[in-house]
Order: sequence, then structure tokens, then C-alpha cells
Amino acid sequence: STMPPLLSAIANAGRRGVLAKSAVVMERLGQIDTVALDKTGTLTEGVPYVTNLRPLPGSDLDDTALLALAASAEHPSEHPLARAVVTAARERNLALADADDFTSTPGQGVTATINGHTVTVGAPAHLPAPDTGEQHQEVVAELEEAGRTAVVVVRDGVPVGVLGIADRLRPDAAATVAALTRLTGRAPVLLTGDNERAARRLAAEVGITEVRAGLLPQDKVAAVKEWEAQGRKVLVVGDGVNDAPALAAAHSGIAMGKAGSDLALETADAVVVRDELATIPSVVQLSRTARRLVI
Ligand code: ADP
Ligand code: MG
Repeated sequence: STMPPLLSAIANAGRRGVLAKSAVVMERLGQIDTVALDKTGTLTEGVPYVTNLRPLPGSDLDDTALLALAASAEHPSEHPLARAVVTAARERNLALADADDFTSTPGQGVTATINGHTVTVGAPAHLPAPDTGEQHQEVVAELEEAGRTAVVVVRDGVPVGVLGIADRLRPDAAATVAALTRLTGRAPVLLTGDNERAARRLAAEVGITEVRAGLLPQDKVAAVKEWEAQGRKVLVVGDGVNDAPALAAAHSGIAMGKAGSDLALETADAVVVRDELATIPSVVQLSRTARRLVI
């Protein structure tokens, strides 16, 4: 073909299921030496499901009322965990109440007014002050030990229940980690907003040893900047609103298309449209080959 090498690389990447937004993007991908992977929606399928409903003693809620309350607050959110909660409520034909004054904080959770009560559903580590209860901690620890993501439901400042949520590892996660390790000479790092226990368990399954958990969006950016200050060129792979700042800060950013939030897709340099993680190392390799032809 007479097409310039970087343009053919874009076309080849497209055939493999990765949409690169420009020739510059294609060129930069071939330079990366460090990979940071998000957990939920990136290493995992991003279609999590509710496994545990644990109303807290003294809360007046049963399993169903807890789920309905959480789903009402989560309804406007596009986060994969929110969709898991709403799906679980739908499967039980629960009626959802209107969510007023809805706000969502990336990496933390959501808050809304439900029937006049302020309801927060979110990460145990980032509950709104005052965090009065201690009793949810034990349930959270138990669920996290079992590899679940625990989200706490807080009503008018009081924790009233905990939901356990599970997510399947992508079938090609371990092979992708191995391929990226071969390409860059070092294993990828896991960057996640989720809890340390669930993150470490999943990392061990795919061959990742460096894990940074409990991160807010700006903490993911700080990790990227720390490595780039050491002269490294970082590829970030993520799917969420919480990944967008890190996708923008990195040398290269790739978003997972299927589960990905609009903001992540817009911010990333390239999008995995075929929903296979294994396309990523193959496209990095493509880019390296194309760069050799250009130079
Ligand atoms: P990851 O970095 O693994 O993709 P996120 O940063 O998106 O995860 O989320 C981090 C944590 O924040 C979740 O594990 C959860 O505890 C909490 N969280 C974020 N959004 C929501 C939500 N809509 N509902 C409940 N919890 C949430
Ligand atoms: Mg994610």
C-alpha cells in the first residue's frame, strides 16, 4: 500500500478493534514503557451484580427496603456499580422513588434526596461526615475479605445498610497483563478507587503485584505524574469518569468502549471498541512497527 505507515497502523488497529483518534496518538502508543490499569470495567467485565443485602441492626429496613432505597439514589448514575444496584431492584420488581438533588462524586459515590431523606450510597472510605456508625465496618470488612466491593447506604447521616457487589474478571485479563509485561519489561500497575483487599485479590489472579487502591481521580493523576517525572512514558487504560483526568495526564490514554463513560471515551486518545483487553498489547506492537518504518 502507498498509505503512510502511521495511517496504515490506524487502519490495522481499527481492524483489531481499537479506534485511534490520530496518527500522533498512534505514534505515542509505541513509546510507552509503563502501563497503569483501572480495575472495575477495565480488568473486570464492568457488569457487576449485587451479591449481598445487609441492612444494619437498628435500621428499620429489611433487605428489600434497603435495596429500593439504594436503587432510588443510584438511578440517575451511569457508574457500573449503580447499574448493578438498579438491575437488582428491577429483577425484584421494586418501585423506585424519585431522586432529587442528585450529585455524583467520582471514586466516592452518589447522594440524593429520597422521600425527604438525604441518602448517600458509596465507598466506605469516603462516607459523608459525620460518619456516626461503627457497626457497618464489621460487615464491610467481612464482604471485602470475600473479594466483594462493599458500598454503604447512609440515610440522614446514619449508615443503614451495606451492599456486597461482585464483578467477573475479563477472560483475557491475565494474558493481556503477561503480554504488556513482555512488551514493556515491567508488569502493569493496578490503579483503583476500590478497596485494597478486593484489589489485591484480583491483582494476584492476573499477575500484578503493584496495587494502589482507594484512589480518587486526582490520586490516579498523581501516580501518573510521579512516573512521568522519572522519565517514564505511561499508558493509562480505564473506563470511568474517575479515570478521565488520568487518561488526559498520561502519555497515552485508552478507554474501554463498551462499559466506558462518555467522558472517558472523549478524553482518551484511543478507544477499545471490540471490548477485548487483548487488543491493547497488539496495538502497542503495531505502533512500534509503524514508528520503525517512519523513522
Ligand atoms: P475503579 O477505579 O475500580 O474503576 P471507581 O473509582 O469508579 O472504581 O469507584 C471507586 C469506589 O467508589 C467504588 O468501589 C465504590 O466504593 C465507590 N463508588 C463510586 N461510584 C459509586 C456509585 N455510583 N455507587 C456506589 N459506590 C460508588
Ligand atoms: Mg473503572
